[in-house]
Amino acid sequence: MSVQHDQAKGPMQDRIVVVTGGARGIGRAIVDRFTAEGATVVIGDLTDPGDPGQLEWVPLDVTDETSVIEFAQSVEAGHGGVDVLVNNAGIMAERSITEETLAEWDLTMAVNLRGPFLMAKHLIPFMEGREGASIINIGSIEGLVANRLHAAYCASKGGVHALTRSLALDLGPHGIRCNAIAPGWIDTDLNRSYVERHPDRDQVVADLERLHPIARIGDPADVAATAFWLASPDAGFVTGQVIQVEGGRTVRLSLPTTLEP
Ligand code: NDP
Repeated sequence: MSVQHDQAKGPMQDRIVVVTGGARGIGRAIVDRFTAEGATVVIGDLTDPGDPGQLEWVPLDVTDETSVIEFAQSVEAGHGGVDVLVNNAGIMAERSITEETLAEWDLTMAVNLRGPFLMAKHLIPFMEGREGASIINIGSIEGLVANRLHAAYCASKGGVHALTRSLALDLGPHGIRCNAIAPGWIDTDLNRSYVERHPDRDQVVADLERLHPIARIGDPADVAATAFWLASPDAGFVTGQVIQVEGGRTVRLSLPTTLEP
């Protein structure tokens, strides 16, 4: 099935795009990319991105079903439907499994996994029948491999990848594709604190870059570019996939430093 669009305008002209957690970080880069491509973007976030007149923000807590329903109704009332849903809002905490409280575990699951479920549940009715509609979930390479002390985060992101495959099956017959992006180390507030707490920031950055075959860490725009492609007609035969955007970090087998060539 091909999506018809005016080549001069580009595939995102007149498209309505929702980005959760779009006020900053990866979400903001996704907002900026879709906006630059001519889409109408609605940011759903706890926090006002603070750019009145330029960005449309509707308050949203993805963990709260009432908030999600009110958000969905607001977007439907303002724009008459949704073409692209990007489930980006996410949180991460570093804790051992014995220190982690039930409330902390539940909060990670609520933002990272219940959020995409609730957003899909309440926005799908406004996506059905719109040609080229798609959902993009932001997972993580930590849904595929693990870092220490990240049990809740890893479990939630593994769930996001599984949810993505399941939605692809269920929504395919309704003309809605669903894919996930699994970013690696992307330079945002979420993980900048890890770098900043080390006394030698330059050393940490150099060590991080060495982990990547392409010798750099990721930029939010790298994820935004993949989200844009996944939403575009060029990805019209792509659904149920988890696309890794991680500079090749996970393809490298680790060796003891003494044996590194
Ligand atoms: P940031 O912490 O920089 O931004 C997250 C955004 O989500 C913030 O605007 C935040 O709002 C918002 N948010 C948090 N909780 C909620 C909620 N309950 N409802 C609505 N919005 C909420 O994170 P990143 O940009 O780094 O991460 C974005 C996504 O990418 C996440 O899903 C993350 O897990 C994933 N990811 C990130 C990687 C990285 O290296 N940065 C790597 C792999 C995956 P507020 O500012 O008000 O808290």
